[in-house]
Amino acid sequence: MSYIYDTLIIGGGPAGYTAALYAARAGMNTAVLERMSPGGQMALTDTIDNYPGFHEGVDGIMLGMNMQMQAERFGAKTLYEDVLGVDFTDSAVKTVKTATNTYLARTVIIATGANPRELGLPNERALTGKGVHYCAHCDGRFYKGKTVAVVGGGNSAVSDALYLSRVTDKVYVIHRRDSLRATKIYHEPLMKAENVEFVWDSAITEILSDGRVTGVKVKNLKDGSEREIGFSGLFVSIGRNPATDFLKGVLELDDYGYIVADESTRTSVPGVFAVGDVRTKALRQVVTAVADGATAIHYAEEYLSRSM
Ligand SMILES: Cc1cc2nc3c(=O)[nH]c(=O)nc-3n(C[C@H](O)[C@H](O)[C@H](O)COP(=O)(O)OP(=O)(O)OC[C@H]3O[C@@H](n4cnc5c(N)ncnc54)[C@H](O)[C@@H]3O)c2cc1C
Repeated sequence: MSYIYDTLIIGGGPAGYTAALYAARAGMNTAVLERMSPGGQMALTDTIDNYPGFHEGVDGIMLGMNMQMQAERFGAKTLYEDVLGVDFTDSAVKTVKTATNTYLARTVIIATGANPRELGLPNERALTGKGVHYCAHCDGRFYKGKTVAVVGGGNSAVSDALYLSRVTDKVYVIHRRDSLRATKIYHEPLMKAENVEFVWDSAITEILSDGRVTGVKVKNLKDGSEREIGFSGLFVSIGRNPATDFLKGVLELDDYGYIVADESTRTSVPGVFAVGDVRTKALRQVVTAVADGATAIHYAEEYLSRSM
């Protein structure tokens, strides 16, 4: 008979490795399936400044590697494989499939994260970290005393713009329509902020740079006119893509593809938990991802003790 893990964790970001640490430390047979390298999105940033315990900030790659080593010290394994499918029809033993292997587990923790959507402009990736950002709460404070722009019009864009209006001198909000899609609770304080200027009906056609972002060229979608706007930081806030394609029809997902799970991290399938950026939640950060990882193992242990 094939080996049955107590828990299989899909995704080796902060949520996944915290779940692995708590599971292995609790004596559960634990493996993390990671398709790339440990650390997830943290590996995309030089400095994480808002994770408690590191008063001078911490390198994202180092933090990811340390989380992996800490979990492995207690016996968690890492299997470098891309999960392509799952089968949760047998509630006692769940199946996880990669291109080359099939794994079995009593509980499964989904920790596959979500990636920010890009504008798709030619120099956008080259300028990421050099003035192009996807996380206002992470990088906004680098623009104290400067002018920035937020592109987007939904709740996240408006919440990002509000936050930036408090930590920077001036914020442009560039949006394709002539009004915000955000709910009123976010909308009203932003409209009242004195250092926010709206650029309505406009799409960014070019990111201007001298090696770092210096502004953008925007096109008015109603009259076709173009103009340049100067600033030093562009915050792209046009949504995220949760990594849940392999879960469609298996778990309950919301309209945006996030796994529906509350603070308990329980999903629509007993014994399957969703942690970190991949689940429905208000704030997607390292600190909330690691909290989910710990919480999931608390409920996974409870599930195992009831089902054995
Ligand atoms: C540029 C940038 C800067 C940031 N800066 C900060 C910051 O300063 N402070 C902060 O708190 N937050 C920051 N964040 C946000 C933070 O990184 C995320 O909230 C956090 O990493 C989410 O953790 P996670 O474990 O849920 O998911 P992720 O970090 O997204 O990890 C998911 C992992 O799952 C793997 N995976 C996905 N699908 C599969 C599959 N099918 N099979 C196997 N493996 C899979 C991925 O390869 C990845 O390693 C930043 C994000 C970005 C993009």
